[in-house]
Amino acid sequence: MTAHDPASTPDAGILPGDHLERLRTRVTGTVVLPGDPDWDDARRAWQLLADQHPAAVVYAATEQDVVATVATARKLGLSVAPQGTGHAATAIPSLRDTILLRTRALDTIEINPETERARVGAGAVWSQVVGAAAEHGLAAVAGMAPSVGVTGFTLGGGVGWLARSHGLAANSIRALDVVDAHGRSLHVDAARHADLFWAARGGVAPVVVTGLELQLYPIDEIVAGGLMWPLERAPEIAHAWRDWAQTLPDGVTSLVRVLRYPPIPEIPEFLRGRSFVAVEAAIQADADAADSLLQPLRALGPELDSVRPMSPADLASVHGDPDQPSPAYGESVVLSELTPDALEAFLDAALAPSSTSLLSIELRHLGGMLTPGRTGGGAVASIDGAGLVYSVGIVPFPEAQGPVRSAAAAVIERLAPYAADAVVKNFTDTPEAATALYGAAVERLRAVVAAWDPERVIRTGHPLD
Ligand SMILES: Cc1cc2nc3c(=O)[nH]c(=O)nc-3n(C[C@H](O)[C@H](O)[C@H](O)COP(=O)(O)OP(=O)(O)OC[C@H]3O[C@@H](n4cnc5c(N)ncnc54)[C@H](O)[C@@H]3O)c2cc1C
Repeated sequence: MTAHDPASTPDAGILPGDHLERLRTRVTGTVVLPGDPDWDDARRAWQLLADQHPAAVVYAATEQDVVATVATARKLGLSVAPQGTGHAATAIPSLRDTILLRTRALDTIEINPETERARVGAGAVWSQVVGAAAEHGLAAVAGMAPSVGVTGFTLGGGVGWLARSHGLAANSIRALDVVDAHGRSLHVDAARHADLFWAARGGVAPVVVTGLELQLYPIDEIVAGGLMWPLERAPEIAHAWRDWAQTLPDGVTSLVRVLRYPPIPEIPEFLRGRSFVAVEAAIQADADAADSLLQPLRALGPELDSVRPMSPADLASVHGDPDQPSPAYGESVVLSELTPDALEAFLDAALAPSSTSLLSIELRHLGGMLTPGRTGGGAVASIDGAGLVYSVGIVPFPEAQGPVRSAAAAVIERLAPYAADAVVKNFTDTPEAATALYGAAVERLRAVVAAWDPERVIRTGHPLD
């Protein structure tokens, strides 16, 4: 009998449903159970392709709610799956016998301009944090999409517009407040519970995070935006981007992408139903220096040019990600090199007839501070590759799923000869093997999870085993 076995608890005769009912009186937040009128809303994730069927949903309003939820789960032999937004909900294999713990209401944000750090509640999303930081002339290593949760993004690594200059977002975590699998509230940093601090950064967090302390950086303006050309010019533009990218300092993070906008009213009229090749970039330089840098691309006469000086808070608009829950399926591959041949393969894949089912096929420039050995300290602190390809399609109705999945898989297959031995967790939408995600760190991660959560009370995306 394990400590996680419900029969080992004093009130083992009480039915699980009664315990879950009692949880309603123990938390200040809301408990929603199957059969409740708002059950379908409660179990819905931001990622609309996820069909979540937990034992209960708890909307935590306080840290004490998290403690009560973990304690109840232990008593019942259930697991707890912490979830902020549910962007990565399809990476959790199953929520059977699991309480889905929604942390979205834990969204306090405090910026300390002296230490240049942010203390952020686990439920905050990036749009909330970047605005608060920008008021002090500071920038976070944030996600490209404003609706993505700070916690999932950062624990998962985190590749944003400051990636080449400041590395993975996980490397900017300075401390975590957590509730562990035994219901204890702990402060975790490089000195306290250092093994957990290591594991949580890019690896596995066998705890519920309630707050994060993040390093911010003194950047009050950045030059960023997109240049777009009609899709017919994709080969010329993509090769020009590759040549350009080879010359860039670490202060420039950029990507090239093929975009096919569907003819739907949600898309602005000037883009609706059209296809483009685009270069997007964030340049840490003054406006004149950025103009000089961009000259080789602007000389190619983009049809649309939105690159301009902006607050780092406005970076969230550059990539054009949806701000509302969406049904999207994507796959990724890391390229070991950005040679002309690798770029030809990218173009082949992106321009193939099957790729018309995809909304976007992008190639992000890696290197800089993402390079192994340049920064870090957590379980996954770098990406060993030159480029990251992510292709994604919208699945507005179930029949669209097949074509989108096979188109995304075809892109990966075409790029296989150039694939690096690396998988980036945040760009892996379905459960992936631990060895592929964590490489050499996997055994140490298993030891940390065994020490902190031997009964596997905490359920995360991409489980270790
Ligand atoms: C539109 C879109 C754009 C994206 N853009 C980028 C990008 O530019 N760069 C990038 O790196 N990624 C990007 N992602 C991927 C995104 O970073 C991951 O999906 C990330 O996990 C989302 O975090 P979340 O908290 O919003 O999601 P959630 O699904 O709520 O959480 C994801 C996982 O994080 C863990 N977690 C969340 N909260 C807690 C907690 N309180 N305690 C312990 N563990 C927790 C859990 O394992 C959970 O399953 C994008 C995703 C989408 C849908």
